[in-house]
Amino acid sequence: MAPVAMRSAARSLSDAQPVPFWLEDPGKPGAVPALTGTEKCDLLVVGGGYSGLWTALLAKEREPDRDVVLIEGREVGWAASGRNGGFCAASLTHGFGNGLARWPDELTTLERLGERNLDAIEAAVARYSLDCDFERTGEIDVATEPHQLEELHEMYEAARRLGLADGLELLDRDAVRAQVDSPTFLGGLHDRRGVAMLHPAKLAWGLKRACLDLGVRIFENTPGLELVSLGAGMGVRTPYGRVVARRVALGTNVFPSLVKRVRYYTVPVYDYVLTTEPLTDAQLASVGWKNRQGLGDSANQFHYFRITADNRILWGGYDAIYPFGGRVSAERDHRPETYLRLAEHFFRCFPQLEGLRFSHAWGGAIDTCSRFSAFFGTAHQGKVAYAAGFTGLGVGATRFGADVMLDLLAGEHTERTELKMVRSKPLPFPPEPIAWAGIGITKWSLARADENGGRRNLWLKAMDRLGLGFDS
Ligand SMILES: Cc1cc2nc3c(=O)[nH]c(=O)nc-3n(C[C@H](O)[C@H](O)[C@H](O)COP(=O)(O)OP(=O)(O)OC[C@H]3O[C@@H](n4cnc5c(N)ncnc54)[C@H](O)[C@@H]3O)c2cc1C
Repeated sequence: MAPVAMRSAARSLSDAQPVPFWLEDPGKPGAVPALTGTEKCDLLVVGGGYSGLWTALLAKEREPDRDVVLIEGREVGWAASGRNGGFCAASLTHGFGNGLARWPDELTTLERLGERNLDAIEAAVARYSLDCDFERTGEIDVATEPHQLEELHEMYEAARRLGLADGLELLDRDAVRAQVDSPTFLGGLHDRRGVAMLHPAKLAWGLKRACLDLGVRIFENTPGLELVSLGAGMGVRTPYGRVVARRVALGTNVFPSLVKRVRYYTVPVYDYVLTTEPLTDAQLASVGWKNRQGLGDSANQFHYFRITADNRILWGGYDAIYPFGGRVSAERDHRPETYLRLAEHFFRCFPQLEGLRFSHAWGGAIDTCSRFSAFFGTAHQGKVAYAAGFTGLGVGATRFGADVMLDLLAGEHTERTELKMVRSKPLPFPPEPIAWAGIGITKWSLARADENGGRRNLWLKAMDRLGLGFDS
């Protein structure tokens, strides 16, 4: 980075609060009390992010008399669900390209189920009055390099051949810059219906309230410490008590699973985000953005960006940091060198906003699995179900994961449970130091590919053949 650009990026960060912008909202609800003593229930849900909250809510919708308890180790929505970019996508496969590469035969079904899932989220937002700034404005994937433009054209053609191009539109340079203006944009692919923007923490808090209203008993600051089989049911020990349940659903994401064998399928990858102060009318006019879509660039190391309800720009991505040993730790939630890089990239993208300052800077752990899309399963003779591995696209897909967990726990064969994606597992990550070395070489190769017209080296080609990958 040139010294001048570095100095100006540093200045723009000098007032940035090191907390997720979303979690500072004055509407944040207080925590409900922790569990003490013994609770009995039909279904115990572990985890108070979207996975757990949707599971509890959908369980009640399916069977209103079902007695449902949810325990959350800290506060509902504090983790990925309260600190993400707020892109709520229909895709269940971490994007069309990844779905096409892995499940070409069932992609039309996956896309249909994904669209239905996003429609159901939109309907739930209306039905439960979830005040989460939900705006189905779509997303534009922008090309900032000529080879990315070609890739977007190929993607569009592939979608068209499968009859999945409804709502997709290729934009040339002028058309994309008429939507959102950056001198770096060469063109884009606009998905008008497949993505909504929302306030992630307010979605989690709204789901918490909807669950409570339907009679779900929620206990915060209540980590599940141990899971044991108890005859026909299961028991979960907590610091001040325990829960005895007929069935258990684990929505614990990147945190160590209570089913130990599941731990090998995911690694934490830290992703970082900035938000600016609110833009003035003149600043807004200089970038356009009237239609409030989300955007992402098409590099392997990509940025995602969007506008908030109060007209800040959220700008995240690029660095995807894997910590040696794969441990989740609060220390990693901040990375000043990444904030500097993100700020410098921001002003390269929007030079007309020079002088704008960042209000918040934060990071969080993503549960990356080697196929980038969720996996599902059961343990303890079908009494326990889990869904994890959403990687960087779980805001929408976790609701689908919740439905799958409920299908599995009910022993039902549904269109969802018959999917190859649901019946198969990703390749697990190897132990250290092999994981560290492998991820390091992959990241290095992806960065080189971005600089070399997208050309993938032998290592990436070998990984592609094995179906192994690394993404955020
Ligand atoms: C910085 C960042 C940006 C992202 N941006 C996007 C985006 O724009 N779009 C998108 O689709 N996805 C995005 N993601 C991913 C998305 O946020 C996640 O896929 C999604 O929130 C996962 O929800 P979850 O409920 O599975 O996990 P979480 O939100 O992590 O919730 C899991 C919960 O389980 C609790 N828990 C864990 N273990 C236990 C236990 N033993 N007992 C009790 N409680 C336990 C944790 O405390 C936590 O609250 C992003 C993620 C990050 C970190």
